[in-house]
Amino acid sequence: MTVLARFSLKGKKALVTGGNRGLGKAFAVALAEAGAMVAICGRDAERNASAVGEAAAQGLEMVPLTADITDDGQVDQMTRRAIEALGGLDILVNNAGACFHNESWNVTDPEWSTVFDLNVRALWKCSLAAGRHMAEAGGGSVVNIGSMSGLIVNRPQWQPAYNASKAAVHHLTKSLAAEWAPVGIRVNAVAPGYVKTDMAPVDRPELRRYWIEDVPQQRYALPEEIAPSVVFLASDAASFITGSILVVDGGYTVF
Ligand code: NDP
Repeated sequence: MTVLARFSLKGKKALVTGGNRGLGKAFAVALAEAGAMVAICGRDAERNASAVGEAAAQGLEMVPLTADITDDGQVDQMTRRAIEALGGLDILVNNAGACFHNESWNVTDPEWSTVFDLNVRALWKCSLAAGRHMAEAGGGSVVNIGSMSGLIVNRPQWQPAYNASKAAVHHLTKSLAAEWAPVGIRVNAVAPGYVKTDMAPVDRPELRRYWIEDVPQQRYALPEEIAPSVVFLASDAASFITGSILVVDGGYTVF
């Protein structure tokens, strides 16, 4: 096997949560370009259909699944539908996430719950649903989307719930990696720095001092720059990597 063949996902079946825009859409496209059959989920059926349409225009086939993954019943149904539509499931990318900028004194209970229900609990439930199938099928790869916010505290905006939720994602990644290695499932995380998406207002002038000037590379990333790391961790090129947090942040966390 050549080294590049190890990165190929030909014949693999992948599910990306929150795959209809931003980072998740770039991950879904990259996985499909690497040869995987891909299903994406999001709550908005129209946005799912439009992402699948864009992929089709590039010659990439994807299955749209409408689901709110904070609802346990919908997680089980989505996982079943992905397995049926793709004919199995080898790769789960736990990407869907939410963030609020608010100082701790003002964080509302609904904000805290929204962040933890999606970023941690839904990721846990999706991992269990896919992991059960992967364990029975003989293995698989889970890639969680953490954040540099799980390693440092961002500024100038405060986002305590988000930061804590991403630290939880990183440690859950290690916990599941340890437990699931014997059944052939690798569990890793990618921790991006600032990336231009709906979630991150990277162009706001008042954020430039911290979000751009503090980055050794002096810029933010585009989603397409994070996607190859997801492909790598999902692929056999990472066959001896599990429980790792791959930081992709233009150097932000060196200081
Ligand atoms: P976006 O807000 O642009 O996209 C979020 C995606 O998640 C959408 O596809 C959305 O689709 C989906 N989603 C939201 N809630 C749910 C839900 N309850 N059930 C199913 N799907 C849902 O986020 P980004 O692309 O910026 O971020 C993606 C991931 O990367 C997140 O985990 C984020 O924390 C992480 N990250 C982002 C960084 C950045 O700078 N952008 C930096 C570091 C990490 P829909 O609305 O249709 O449900």
